[in-house]
Amino acid sequence: MPYIITEPCINTKDKACVDVCPVDCIYEGEKQLYINPDECIDCGACEPECPVTAIFPEEDVPAQMKEYVQLNREVFKGENPPGRPTR
Ligand code: SF4
Ligand code: SF4
Repeated sequence: MPYIITEPCINTKDKACVDVCPVDCIYEGEKQLYINPDECIDCGACEPECPVTAIFPEEDVPAQMKEYVQLNREVFKGENPPGRPTR
């Protein structure tokens, strides 16, 4: 079960999570950051780093934000997938 980035990341994007991910599987999109679910090793290191509580293990994503589970997966299959975060 990968970790998921949800709505509070939009317009926050401070990238605190990026620095702690041991496998560099957090990518930057236009509106928010996304975790590549095929690369995430479920270590949980990113979750406490997020200042706006946007990151959840897949099974704990709040009901009103369940769409983000699919979004974090689908966004990597699109024409303009998220890239390496810039500073
Ligand atoms: S720490 Fe949270 S708000 Fe900041 S980029 Fe990561 S998911 Fe987005
Ligand atoms: S749970 Fe671990 S591997 Fe997955 S995105 Fe967070 S820090 Fe990276």
